[in-house]
Amino acid sequence: MALLWRFSLLYANTWLCYIYANIETPTGESNNRGIMKVLKFGGSSVADSEKIKKVVDIVTLSTENKFVILSAMKGITNALIASAKKAEVGDAVYKELAGEVRERTLATLGELVKSEPLLAETQRSVEAMLNEYHDILHGVELIRECSLRSMDLIMSFGERLNCTVAAAYMNEAGHKAEFIDAREIIRTDSSFGKGSVEFDITYELIEKRVKSMEGVGIITGFIANSDEGYTTTLGRNGSDYTASIIAAAVDADCCEIWTDVDGVLTADPRVVSTAKVIDRLSIEEAMELSYFGAEVIHPSTLIPTVEKDIPVIIRNTMNLDAPGTVIADEKTNRDTSITGIASIDNVALINVIGNGMVGMPGAASRIFCSLADGDINIIMISQASSEHSICMVCRQEEAGRARACLEKDLADAIAAKSIQKIEVREDLELIAVIGENMKGQVGLSGRLFSSLGKKDVNILAIAQGSTEKNISLVIEKAQRETALNAIHETFLG
Ligand code: ASP
Repeated sequence: MALLWRFSLLYANTWLCYIYANIETPTGESNNRGIMKVLKFGGSSVADSEKIKKVVDIVTLSTENKFVILSAMKGITNALIASAKKAEVGDAVYKELAGEVRERTLATLGELVKSEPLLAETQRSVEAMLNEYHDILHGVELIRECSLRSMDLIMSFGERLNCTVAAAYMNEAGHKAEFIDAREIIRTDSSFGKGSVEFDITYELIEKRVKSMEGVGIITGFIANSDEGYTTTLGRNGSDYTASIIAAAVDADCCEIWTDVDGVLTADPRVVSTAKVIDRLSIEEAMELSYFGAEVIHPSTLIPTVEKDIPVIIRNTMNLDAPGTVIADEKTNRDTSITGIASIDNVALINVIGNGMVGMPGAASRIFCSLADGDINIIMISQASSEHSICMVCRQEEAGRARACLEKDLADAIAAKSIQKIEVREDLELIAVIGENMKGQVGLSGRLFSSLGKKDVNILAIAQGSTEKNISLVIEKAQRETALNAIHETFLG
């Protein structure tokens, strides 16, 4: 039975990639190098030695050429950040936190690797890294300062330690694997905390490095190097992005993101119990859904793979029977009129109201510039053609700052009474109904709004882009459950 299951999984995997390999590279050249896969496993998939064993099982199930991107073990990046913050204020608790990182790493190594000289060799490299981490924290404690640059270096230990241990285990289990520190192959500018990738040089470095790779490459997610040789990171949860960059660089046939959910769901399952996994998503739909709160994948992650036409597959490490969600640039044959419903809690509505804005060019520009200068991210915009008010939605925690920026920057218009009021309404929910099929569908918004009307849900603002693939609306947070279930039942029930 187990064998049968393994075989069917191997078959399904190979088949999926085969379809996408399409015997042609995105540039149209004949592809005779065999199937090439990039697999990325997030922190929860590598949380302990048992999970790492499972990851290696998944990786070694099939025989394609592979690149494996790993995150730090679950909780380690947070522990590294916490230790740095404690060291910065001279709190000796940092030593305990660093001790926990050390213990967890060495215990995992001890559980996974038993044979010599592999164990001693790996222990040596792990110890060297842990000592360096400790020294850096001591430096931070002495100078009472942890810059973004130092923080990136400190965070980098999570992925470096985990990949060193995992690569050793893979070799111990009889599968040739090589640890690759992504700082060798991914270049960014010096924006510490979230480096901006320099693609040309990165692709060149990856191509060169891959040529000398032996076996499966176990590559650190999240981290990179700046032009000046400093460690940088790609932003929190940046390992998906690493996977996407590597996949694009090697012209992979598919990029699998292994996580702890079955795929992208039609709605938030904590609120809509009937939410289902979406089997296929177009890139645009995936971007819309992930932007609007389906936290499975971050939209920017997809950019390198989109450019190279590489499908991304979301899979669940804990449930290998689930086929996952395939995100690819192709028309999906869907029998539902919408694809999914995304939602964001705790948003605020900012309403700028003023008779003086009617027919006044530049009013919107002043409002948006003011919010941009205040680093406020606007999630939705709506303006009626009367031009009497402009309404914007942002995260609740930014609302106070947004109001202050507007009051400061529009003070002259407020004094001249061309703007009468700046209203901020909190505790709201933004819901976005998304789908390729929505385009040109007469009556869809009628059905949407009457499904909400029937349940007494009051709508505070609405926006629809001209692509017709997204209708966004704002309601009171208290009506969230009713609204999401009503929409789901109407279109996807
Ligand atoms: N370990 C990093 C983080 O927790 C990056 C990642 O896991 O993707 O943000």
